[in-house]
Amino acid sequence: MPHLNPLSSHETKTTRIATQLRERTSTQPLSLRKTAVSHMVPKAFDKKYKDEKIDISDLSAILEIDPEKKFCVAEPGVTFVDLVKATLPLGLVPMTVPEFKTITIGGAVAGCSIESMSFQYGGFHDSCFEYEVITADGRVLTCTPDNEHSLIFQMMHGTFGTLGIISKLKFRLVPAKPFVKVIYEKYSHVESYELAIRRHFKTRDVDFMDGFVHSPTLYVLNLGVFVDQAPYQNRYDWMKIYYQTTATRDEDYLRTPDYFFRYDRGVTGVRFSSFFGRLFFGKFASSSHILRLAEKIHWLLPRKRPTVTLDIFVSISKIKTFLKWYEHEFQHFPLWVVPYKRTRDYEWANKSFYEAAGSDELFVDLAIYGMKQRGDKNYYRIMEEKLMEIGGIKTLISHNFYSEEEFWKNWNKPNYDQVKAITDPKGMFRDLYQKTCR
Ligand SMILES: Cc1cc2nc3c(=O)[nH]c(=O)nc-3n(C[C@H](O)[C@H](O)[C@H](O)COP(=O)(O)OP(=O)(O)OC[C@H]3O[C@@H](n4cnc5c(N)ncnc54)[C@H](O)[C@@H]3O)c2cc1C
Repeated sequence: MPHLNPLSSHETKTTRIATQLRERTSTQPLSLRKTAVSHMVPKAFDKKYKDEKIDISDLSAILEIDPEKKFCVAEPGVTFVDLVKATLPLGLVPMTVPEFKTITIGGAVAGCSIESMSFQYGGFHDSCFEYEVITADGRVLTCTPDNEHSLIFQMMHGTFGTLGIISKLKFRLVPAKPFVKVIYEKYSHVESYELAIRRHFKTRDVDFMDGFVHSPTLYVLNLGVFVDQAPYQNRYDWMKIYYQTTATRDEDYLRTPDYFFRYDRGVTGVRFSSFFGRLFFGKFASSSHILRLAEKIHWLLPRKRPTVTLDIFVSISKIKTFLKWYEHEFQHFPLWVVPYKRTRDYEWANKSFYEAAGSDELFVDLAIYGMKQRGDKNYYRIMEEKLMEIGGIKTLISHNFYSEEEFWKNWNKPNYDQVKAITDPKGMFRDLYQKTCR
């Protein structure tokens, strides 16, 4: 667990990184070296493996927690498991805790973070109110939603580290209790499922909401509330597989950290599906171990027709039509369902994307894990085409096949270029399209 570090030691670290960047003469593409493993879906021949590295691995301290004003100041390499360990004894937690223990707060902002508190708060970045950013040429900027760097502040989310290095974050915390009670509402039709999601979104009668489409006739909504006491406690880090229990149980109780990381062995793509596999190896099959192994042997991963791991967003009004199409075209279940509040129209996306998405206040994130591609179809591409047709979008965490022209129809090139010209004028970090789609 990181210790609270004085701010002066933070300044020493940022000065070292900024100096290295200022003095750099190489023109080779640059990417980050962190301590925690990356949670981007590993790709066989990702260019990042050949990039020169800037080492930010010592940026992993929690600098301040203010329990009165309910905010935290921390460096980007702090993992969510360590953050929750530090804040929960004070009765506080971050506003969105992604499902894998070693996702870092910097990675969650630069990439994405979607979980069961997203129906209230959006992503983790939506709880942030200040970033310190080191530009590619070694300047250190303080960026807030209201100062002269407001566009830089907004564009740090979802641009996957291609605009600069986030070296410090300030973010809000929310009250929490030691346990979470979850109840499972079951529906056999998408229509009633959609209505239930809308109802809980409106009434805010729960603290957490996610769910599963187990099959075209079994839709489960997992509704959690913080509680002070629990009659029993379950955990899902060895023999038991969380998502499976949502189809059979009516309710469950978990310690709050066990709730946050109930998917750490995989959301639905849990490793070691057999009883004996899990008995002997399951304890060591955390997301972190598996991803570290995949990174080490990345050249062995399938280059053609990789298994499908996708997060897609559609507005709630489109979920019914989308799922009918999905059922016919993909036929892969379960699907993880995470309602996600449209907190604001993000600057990295084009206005035309939001117009096509519609006026709903709520998106639904649907996640597919580990689907084997069938025949000679490219299911990643089929999904991209469908999303372009219906005004949906996907996160860029895995394989992307957009042409450059298609890509910038959804992602906002004028905003991106404006910030890139300030923070990385010589293009030391790959451009967003190159990094995520090539
Ligand atoms: C199987 C699988 C399932 C997933 N499911 C979900 C999910 O359900 N919900 C969800 O929210 N996410 C999910 N993710 C995605 C993951 O949360 C995001 O990819 C997240 O951005 C990873 O954070 P990380 O800390 O591992 O960062 P990394 O993977 O190391 O980095 C992510 C990106 O951010 C950049 N970056 C990292 N740190 C910094 C920094 N300090 N400054 C600037 N740029 C930086 C990196 O260069 C990289 O491009 C999943 C990933 C996988 C592999």
